Amino acid sequence: MMDTDSALLLRLQTEILETVACGEPLVAVADLLCRRAEALAPGAICSILTVDADGLMHPLAAPSLPLAYSSALDDLPCGPMTGSCGTAAFRKEAVIVTDIATDPLWHDYRGLAEPLGLRACWSTPICDRDDRVVGTFAFYYRTSRGPDELERSIVETCVRLCAIAIEHEQVRQRNYRLAYFDALTGLPNRGRFNEMLTRAIAMDEPFGLLLVDIDHLKLVNDTVGHIFGDMLIRTVAERIADCHPSLTAYRLGGDEFAVLVTDCATHDALEQAASRMLAAVRGLIQAGEQTIDPHITVGGALFGSDGTDGASLSQNADFALYHAKDIRRGGYVRFVPGLRTSMLERANMVRSVDQALREKRMLAHYQPIVRLDTAEVVGLEALARMRMPNARIASAGEFHAALADPRIAWQLTGQMLTQIAGDIRHWLDLGIDFQHVGINVTTGDFQRGDLEHRIVDTFERAGVPLRHVVLEVNESVYMGGNDQMVPRAVKALRERGLLVALDDFGTGFASLTHLLSFPVDIIKIDRSFVSRLGTDTACDVVVGSIIDIARKLDMRLVAEGIETPEQARILSDLGCAMGQGYLYARPSSMEDATRLLTLFAEKPGGAHDAEKRRIA
Ligand code: GH3
Ligand code: MG
Repeated sequence: MMDTDSALLLRLQTEILETVACGEPLVAVADLLCRRAEALAPGAICSILTVDADGLMHPLAAPSLPLAYSSALDDLPCGPMTGSCGTAAFRKEAVIVTDIATDPLWHDYRGLAEPLGLRACWSTPICDRDDRVVGTFAFYYRTSRGPDELERSIVETCVRLCAIAIEHEQVRQRNYRLAYFDALTGLPNRGRFNEMLTRAIAMDEPFGLLLVDIDHLKLVNDTVGHIFGDMLIRTVAERIADCHPSLTAYRLGGDEFAVLVTDCATHDALEQAASRMLAAVRGLIQAGEQTIDPHITVGGALFGSDGTDGASLSQNADFALYHAKDIRRGGYVRFVPGLRTSMLERANMVRSVDQALREKRMLAHYQPIVRLDTAEVVGLEALARMRMPNARIASAGEFHAALADPRIAWQLTGQMLTQIAGDIRHWLDLGIDFQHVGINVTTGDFQRGDLEHRIVDTFERAGVPLRHVVLEVNESVYMGGNDQMVPRAVKALRERGLLVALDDFGTGFASLTHLLSFPVDIIKIDRSFVSRLGTDTACDVVVGSIIDIARKLDMRLVAEGIETPEQARILSDLGCAMGQGYLYARPSSMEDATRLLTLFAEKPGGAHDAEKRRIA
């Protein structure tokens, strides 16, 4: 090789390395390399192919060959008889075919080369630093011949440069995957989502954003293990990603996903996309012995009406998701403008209840439950109250929203249980004869699975027999949830000797079939029925049939919210034996409740004793 050739090769090498270092795409580097190599070796036609991990060839650059020729080689597997390139990659050594027309290696491919006047082909494998074939570098000739010495030097240099460029590209792709894709699910990650959101906003075309959070993943992790939790995340990711071409999913972290919905101009369209996704996610996942029915909750916001920049759109979709977790777990809620304010108010409320819990300012008040025939007090319902820093007593309605937070609800139940157990012990010590005290519990109490243990433990420590305790579970809690979790827990508690009351009966969807399989001891007729008694005949009929059903199922009845003697009379006539309401007494402090009990509690051994036991 002459000095000038060496200098030219060195220049080529420098130019290509600089191009690689500048971050030019691999295709552009390969294209430049082919052109420079062809300029140095007149008569040679250059082609570079890559070989993937499955041994399939893909055209990378061949600027002097028609596109159709390169495309015909795409996805061809390397093999012992696949032209010069496929064979070179397969044998991992250079293959020189000086006459395509006669060489058996080209038997199946000469129809491609000959019409272009390609007579010879010399191909050299490109190996990475692990000695794996990652491509081929080929010179075609229009005459039947092999390489000369200069061409050998050129190809040697070019193959080395190709190896560097391909490896650089692999590193770049790996970095890109690490930077933009999530390892567990293979979905693009939060970084990618932020970029795509910015891009979508810049394009100013209609789109929607759905935020998704898997329900109860912690429970899955805790009960069946992290591996299963991971599988749940992966399966949900797959199902969301495959749901529809207009939906692109990103894993934001943990069990949270973002989904961009293209061509989405209305809230209806966004809701449709959400419904499609909710349906796609369902379907049991089987892992060995275990199965799980995945559920997600979705919040949505529409570009334009719900935010015109990434931050506010994401935040509003997040508000909707947060709200959906409260009111429509397993479903979809769209953002509405008032949501933000009400969520902030709730957050403030959570903070103040949290503080009241820490400062022991949550109090148990009691409302008497009376016999409708004698007005004697047979029991009480405990109701939570909050003493405000200015000493005012706030009613449950004022802080009810905070109880949607399962942590707050759980803590409040803990403090209420302790107070109630202490108060009952106090009344028992005073020798007051009463039957039971009702305690309200929420979904949050059931979710942790420790309610039975908490109740039994607290009352045992206070020395209070469980027969004095009625667990009041409202209809939506009893029927809520996706499984039979609450009814099953209720069954276990009843077996412990506790009475269970179904609260607010008639407001939800507690079906009779449910009550047949999971009976309760007491049905509490909701105040909304009681308030219409005597003025609405249909209501009288409904209440009459509730009473009838309860009797047939051997369940006792308590009517809530009795305010007038007329309502009490109708209820009594219909066969309801017990009730509570302002007509008898408002909820009051423990001290006032003690006075009421002392004065009006049923007297043991009285005239109505036999009847009283039946009521109880
Ligand atoms: P919710 O129904 O309210 O959504 O509650 P959740 O139990 O799903 O819990 P939340 O969404 O608040 O938090 C997600 C939990 O998922 C927190 C963490 O314990 C768990 N988690 C986060 N990342 C992973 C992961 O990569 N694998 C597994 N197995 N669990 C994860
Ligand atoms: Mg979750």
